[in-house]
This record gives sequence, structure tokens and C-alpha cells, in this order.
Amino acid sequence: MREYVTSTTQLKPVTGDWGVWHRYTHGVAGEKFFRALKDKRELTASECPKCKRTFLPASLYCEDCFCEMTATKAVSGAGTVASFAILRESLDETPLPEPVVAAFVQFDGVSGGLLAPLRGVKPEQVRIGMRVKPQIAAQPSGAITDLSFVPA
Ligand SMILES: [Zn+2]
Repeated sequence: MREYVTSTTQLKPVTGDWGVWHRYTHGVAGEKFFRALKDKRELTASECPKCKRTFLPASLYCEDCFCEMTATKAVSGAGTVASFAILRESLDETPLPEPVVAAFVQFDGVSGGLLAPLRGVKPEQVRIGMRVKPQIAAQPSGAITDLSFVPA
């Protein structure tokens, strides 16, 4: 049965379990980022051919010029904690054995940033502005979970 809903007042709650399948793709720019992470153990930012801005996460188009960004540039060195959260429960609300620090880190000269666990510091030690460096898994799988940060 199909109903044509024209107003949110016509919406009805439906209870029960719904099986939903999905497939997430990284896209063209994300594919390059994750391949470099896996194959070279490096972080790569997209570089705009016109304004030379670089972006993380990798993007296919420059948000200023709308130019296609096919070039990438390795991101090296330390970054700065721009924001963080202390996680004490997993997504299913199970208490974690130890708190996890999730840090959003921005790199010098790169627009945007990356979110990953910050290891090697106690939650009460984390500060905005703290310098950290990326740590990539010894045998990366090409997933964002290959990345974490440690104090610089
Ligand atoms: Zn640009």
C-alpha cells in the first residue's frame, strides 16, 4: 500500500525492526586518501590547482574555486588539537574499560582536519591547541581506524 503524504502531520509511527542494507563508497578523492594511507602509510590532502589550498578530508572539488582537485599532497608533521571529546561509553552505551579521547586535529596550512583517537594522554591532560602527530597502523588496512594521534 502506498500513501501520498503532503504534510508532516500525516506521518505515522511504524514500530518494528527494519533491515537496511547500504554500501558506503569513499568517492574519487577518498579512494586516493585511503589508498595512500594503506599503501604508503601517509596522509594526503587534496590540492587545488588554482588557489593551491589543500584540504583534509580529501575532496574532489575546491570549495573556493570549484576546481577539480586531482593532485594530492602528503601531509607531514604535527597538527593541532582543534576540538576533542572524551568517550566513556561505546555506541551501544556499554561502558568502555578506559575513556577514549577523540580529537579533531588540524594540520598547518591545510584546511579542514581529521578526527581520530588521541592516545598516550589522560583525558584530563588534553587541551585545545595541543600539538600532536599522526600515528598510522604498522599494517594499515586502508580504513580511518588506521589513524590515531599521539602527543608531538
Ligand atoms: Zn581553489
